[in-house]
Amino acid sequence: MLIGCSTSKKVTVAKKVDVPVGLSAKEVLTEVEEIAKVEVQNAVDTTVFQAFRELTPEEKIVEQKRMGIYKGADWAAALHYDLRKPNFVIIHHTAQNSVAQTVRTFQVPHSKVSAHYVIGRDGQVIQMLNDYERAWHAGKSKWGNIDDLNSVSLGIELDNNGKEPFPDAQINSLLILLDTLKAKYLIPQLNFIGHADIAPMRKDDPSVLFPWKRLAERGFGIWYNEDYLMMPPANFNPIDALKIMGYDMRNQEGAIRAFKRKYIVKEVNGVLTAQDQAVLYDLYRKYY
Ligand SMILES: [Zn+2]
Repeated sequence: MLIGCSTSKKVTVAKKVDVPVGLSAKEVLTEVEEIAKVEVQNAVDTTVFQAFRELTPEEKIVEQKRMGIYKGADWAAALHYDLRKPNFVIIHHTAQNSVAQTVRTFQVPHSKVSAHYVIGRDGQVIQMLNDYERAWHAGKSKWGNIDDLNSVSLGIELDNNGKEPFPDAQINSLLILLDTLKAKYLIPQLNFIGHADIAPMRKDDPSVLFPWKRLAERGFGIWYNEDYLMMPPANFNPIDALKIMGYDMRNQEGAIRAFKRKYIVKEVNGVLTAQDQAVLYDLYRKYY
């Protein structure tokens, strides 16, 4: 709201704006405190400041909000707004051995990774960041035209070493969580995807054992008609179809591998057989 004004002149203007209806005295105080903090920050050379030590997460948010103010504009706070909602869910497996190990990884300063949720093999759901915060789970990735997936997604980590099946208790908890997230944020069915979909050259999670079909039956992601597959017409271009689905086709073999890990399950390689193309065509026809 008023936070992050980058010059003392703008802070003065902001302070004159009436406090919006519904803000408690405590919230007003918090805002004032934050404005004061920004003023102090503006008084020092922040580049020198950062050179000596890393910013804490709280300082980083204040700094980000400061950067979100365009210096060429005058400030007049609008009243009607809220936080941006997540629009994708990215599913991962941890490739670790326990929830405790993953939680620790997301809490140590040097790891530089995080996710919103961790789900244990026993179905325990642990939330580690508010849904509205930007977790660091996607890394360098691309899906369609989006190349900053962290900014638009929630990350869910399933405790799994990458070689074992996902227990029912874990998948049941995941499905309940996904139901809630889909309804709360109106996340489209097509936007429930895996880490390997968005980073096929670097990642292979969730593994080939992840039950994408079961998820699709509940409206999270997509699946094909296993009982009847049509052979695609002669003019069907599988590379274009994968691209339209969202895959980054700059490395075709990697994208095909990710597609096959998810939908074909056996023979995960970079070659599309006639059968694979029929699966792709069925998905393409039904959903795109
Ligand atoms: Zn991952």
